[in-house]
Amino acid sequence: MQEKLDELKHRLREVYDLHGAAAVLNWDQSTYMPKRSAPIRARRLAYLQTLAQEKFTDPAIGKLLDDLQAYGESLPYESDDASLIRVTRREYEKQIKVPTTFTAEFGEHAANSFSIWAAARPENDFATVQPLLEKTLDYSRQYSEFFPGYDHIADPHIDRGNHGITTALVRELFGALRDELIKLLNAIKTQEQVEDSFLYRHFPKAQQYAFAREVAQQFGYDFERGRLDETHHPFETRLNWGDVRITTRGDDHHLGDGVFATMHETGHGLYEQGTHPDLDSSPLQSGTSSAVHESQSRLWENRIGRSRGFWEHYYPVLKDYFPGVLDDVSVDAFYRAINKVEPSLIRVKADEVTYNLHIMIRSELSIELLEGDLSIKELPDAWNARYERYLGVTPPDYSDGVMQDVHWYAMLIGGTFEGYTLGNILGAQYYEAVLAAHPEITDEITRGQFGTLHNWLKTNIYQHGSKFDTAELTERLTGGGISIEPLVRYLHTKFGDIYQL
Ligand SMILES: [Zn+2]
Repeated sequence: MQEKLDELKHRLREVYDLHGAAAVLNWDQSTYMPKRSAPIRARRLAYLQTLAQEKFTDPAIGKLLDDLQAYGESLPYESDDASLIRVTRREYEKQIKVPTTFTAEFGEHAANSFSIWAAARPENDFATVQPLLEKTLDYSRQYSEFFPGYDHIADPHIDRGNHGITTALVRELFGALRDELIKLLNAIKTQEQVEDSFLYRHFPKAQQYAFAREVAQQFGYDFERGRLDETHHPFETRLNWGDVRITTRGDDHHLGDGVFATMHETGHGLYEQGTHPDLDSSPLQSGTSSAVHESQSRLWENRIGRSRGFWEHYYPVLKDYFPGVLDDVSVDAFYRAINKVEPSLIRVKADEVTYNLHIMIRSELSIELLEGDLSIKELPDAWNARYERYLGVTPPDYSDGVMQDVHWYAMLIGGTFEGYTLGNILGAQYYEAVLAAHPEITDEITRGQFGTLHNWLKTNIYQHGSKFDTAELTERLTGGGISIEPLVRYLHTKFGDIYQL
């Protein structure tokens, strides 16, 4: 058995060596690559990814998994080897269902669709992208058919990034949360708005990054196994266990992303850096799902980074980075400003209350498109109607409406948005569990200390990589299933206080 297990590990290592090489090219492409390198770089990336997929779906891997099945089941469930065999089998079964020709064909369409969208969006030109989206929808429905026996056509899509999560569960959770959020938002709208104009003073972005870098380090991000760079769209990427990079962006005239996007990506980075080194170069190496990943980025960004306690310690530090600029602003006023709730058109700029409504609109429309109840032609109007209904705002154009996010224009339709809101739900559940175990964390944060929190997350979540799926992990941490209650409690308490409800 040992020989077969070694061979499986060897083959998987080769697959992840290819993924790691592709990750370097991807990181470079999104940061410092000269523009004119784009077409050749795209080809090389596609080639590496095809090679990795071919190697992973090699029937020899299926044979090894068959031979190792009984052995894996004889080991303790959470042991490295049992988990490796179990999770590899699960991913293998999914990947062999999707023909490589489909992946290659769709990949080409997606690259084309992305570049046309990028040019059409500033021109507010939906007509040009409409036929491309129609084709993407065809591909997306076809993708579901590779997984016959699904309960709902969106299930295979949601399952892709969040194993085991179904459309029925998403609808149940999102439906209940939506009603709560709309109620809370309507209550906030009747109150006096908080003042945040001072956030638009002059805050050189290099200084914002320097401050955020100090915070990231204090959170526990290890700069000896990572780095922070500037990009258009902030992201985190794992090249390997010893190299987990984050990127950010900033604006000299807004104290915002430079600080908060960095905290967000730091949360993703802490998760990847916290995985056990023995899991590297295998399907177990990374965070388990997009939902759990997002639970961590948003926990560090929002639960910590936008908390009153955090700024108790860090407001004087921040002011030192921008001498004189915030002298007339109290820490209370600052805290309220960075938590201002305002319905807007743009998802990535949304506050903690409205953010999930942006996600729900996208999730609902994706599902309706897949079901066939909605056509691409009807999509712009459906988008606007839902913005009016949930947020009370109507996009004046397509650019900031239906053409706003890259997702539908570069990926399959379905399954790409749910992780964000599921992450907010899970983050609140996990944070309640941490506080129950370590109530002292609340005080530690006001002193700029995050060790207890970081260690708990590392021990209970990060080190396991992908050993447990979202439901299993949530059960281990909370003793129950996914629940919106902790998030609703948190939002009511925090924003009830800020808006005096
Ligand atoms: Zn994120």
